[in-house]
Order: sequence, then C-alpha cells, then structure tokens
Amino acid sequence: GFKMGIVGLPNVGKSTLFNALTKTAAAQAANFPFCTIEPNVGEVNVPDARLEKLAEIAKSASIIPTRMTFVDIAGLVKGASKGEGLGNQFLANIREVDAIAHVLRCFEDGDVTHVEGRVDPVADAEVIETELMLADLESIEKRRAGLVRKLKGNDKEAQQQDRLLASAQAVLENGQPARVVEVDVEDAKAWKMLQLLTTKPVLYVCNVSEEDAANGNAHSAKVAQMAASEGNSHVIISARIEEEISQLDPEEAEMFLSEMGLEEPGLDRLIRAGYELLHLETYFTVGPKEARAWTIRQGTAAPQAAGVIHGDFEKGFIRAETIAYDDFVACGGEQGAKEAGKMRAEGKAYIVKDGDVLHFLFNT
Ligand code: GDP
Repeated sequence: GFKMGIVGLPNVGKSTLFNALTKTAAAQAANFPFCTIEPNVGEVNVPDARLEKLAEIAKSASIIPTRMTFVDIAGLVKGASKGEGLGNQFLANIREVDAIAHVLRCFEDGDVTHVEGRVDPVADAEVIETELMLADLESIEKRRAGLVRKLKGNDKEAQQQDRLLASAQAVLENGQPARVVEVDVEDAKAWKMLQLLTTKPVLYVCNVSEEDAANGNAHSAKVAQMAASEGNSHVIISARIEEEISQLDPEEAEMFLSEMGLEEPGLDRLIRAGYELLHLETYFTVGPKEARAWTIRQGTAAPQAAGVIHGDFEKGFIRAETIAYDDFVACGGEQGAKEAGKMRAEGKAYIVKDGDVLHFLFNT
C-alpha cells in the first residue's frame, strides 16, 4: 500500500490529526477494522462516492474501499539531522514513506506553546525542510565515500549512482531540495532508489482554528503561496474539528459540518489530496458479493493492476473485461453495459483508467 508520513514541529497538531484520521467512524467501518500496526501507524479508507454507487447498482452485499497508510512521525525538531533528540530514527521513518504530509501550525493559541515562540508556518516549513536537506547531504556524502572503490573498478551502476548523488548534492549545497533535480527517464528508477528525503512529494497541511476552517486565514494564505511557488499542494484543515467529527456518528457529523460551513470532513480532502500527490488512481471490481476499490499508480498496465489483487492474477493474466465507470452507471450495471456493447476485452498492453470496472481472466 501507499504510505504518507505526517511530519511537523512539536505542538502543531500532528497527533490530533493522526488520531482523528484513524479513529474516525469511516476508518473503522467497512470490513477492515482499523488496524494499529504500530501505535503511530494507521490505515484509513479512501473516500470515493463512486464505490457506493456501483454497489447500489450491483446490489453488492459489501463495500470495501481502498486504503491508505498514515504514519505519525513525531520528534522532528531543529537539529534532528545532527542526531539530536531521537532525530535519526525519525529520519529513517521518513525514508520509508511515499509522500510527506507536513502539518503547519496556522492557529493562534497562547495556551499552546510554540517551540520557536511565534506562529509562522512558512518559517516552520523551512526549519523542517532544512533538517531534511541536511540529512540528505549527510547521507549523500557517506554514500559517495562508500562508492569510491567501486568507481575505480569501473562499475556502471556505481557510476550512475554517483552521478545522481552528485547532482543532488549540488542543488542541496545551493540550499534547494533534491526534488528540483531534473532526472532523465533512464535514470528515474535509480534516482528513486536513492530514497532521498527531499525528493518526496510534500503536501502542506494548514492546521487552522475552528473558526477559520471554512476559509483559512492569513497564515494559511502564506502557506498556499509558498506551496504554489514550490509546485507542492496544500490543504486547510482544523485538526480540532476533525477530532470532534471523528467521535460523532455519520448523521451528527453531517449536521456539525454544515454548522461549520463545511461540505465534507477535512480528512476526506486530505486523503484525496494525498492520493493526487502520489498520482494514484482507483479501479473497481464489482459483483453481488462485494464492490471493491483498488489503488494503482497512474499509467499502470492491466496485468500489474491485476497483480494488486493477487500475484497469480498478474502471472496468468489473459485479459480484462473492462467497463468505464460512467458506462456502468448509465447502462444500469454489467449486463446492461454488455448489451450496449460497452464492455471491452482489453489485453496486456491496456493502461487501466481511473474508474474502470474490471473483471480479470487468468490462467492458474
Ligand atoms: P503534535 O505535537 O504536533 O502532535 O501536536 P498535538 O496534536 O499534540 O497538539 C498540541 C496541542 O495543540 C494540543 O494541546 C492540541 O489540543 C492543540 N491543538 C491542536 N490543534 C489545535 C487547533 O486547531 N487549535 C488550538 N487552539 N489548539 C490546537
């Protein structure tokens, strides 16, 4: 599955947000109970109204949303890259995630201490980014030193690694994150394998007070500007509100939301933003037993998409009977789509599209 790491300075609302994410009724509904893999790791449902629609049409007995993993990575402070506090362990945790949700304090509250003594989310973002850049620089230096012997032996792989590490080092020494390096297609895989912290996509989460949840405030506006200039995205959320909502049943939650002038829980937006950030898509499998959503990366071919369900589906892949979501709905289900000529037989080269309803045929 795909993993988002929640980072941020202490006291910005990370734990509040993480608890809301993982304790929410939606996270516990469906067939998977919320599973605590570790105290700071939680899985949540990816909200998708299409899935309910499909289940309704097909009269599916159960609905199984696709899931996303969140990891609460606390303890990132100034000096983390120097191993201060529990710094190194946290940096290792960040290495393992696919994307970073960076929580920024955009609320004023004299009762909640700010580690830097002022509310300035753009400066906070820089503190964290600087730590990540320093950590990358340090690991690059170590790795390049470790490659010296192989380079003398003309090892092609080592040469590629060293070249990529050198280009990252150059931008980092210039005060920029490694994600600004433009990487050729043939280097893309090796680049990703380097797992540099500052190449991970970032989603800024502006944690605002209850009254600013609907429209944000001056702090979140600055973050929005920064995010846009970096090519990153941002969401505005009130962790406090989300925490309250997570304790309500769905009807109460809806009333509460409309009182606050909100259309949907901020967590839904956060999860969807993470999904977009990672260039993820959803396809569906629909039958009388269950309607289920599956996550793939954009551009995934049918056999690899099948492999998300089971390795055997990929190995023995024959073809995918495919109905676009809109056709499935317009034709009133699989039978109707078939009769209308909207069910296509797609082969190994087919690139699955977001919303496809698929049925895989495979050899065992
Ligand atoms: P973490 O250290 O980043 O995990 O921060 P916490 O989630 O533990 O929050 C730190 C403190 O800030 C707690 O007392 C929260 O109740 C409080 N807090 C979190 N979000 C908000 C908010 O939107 N408004 C206010 N006033 N306090 C908040």
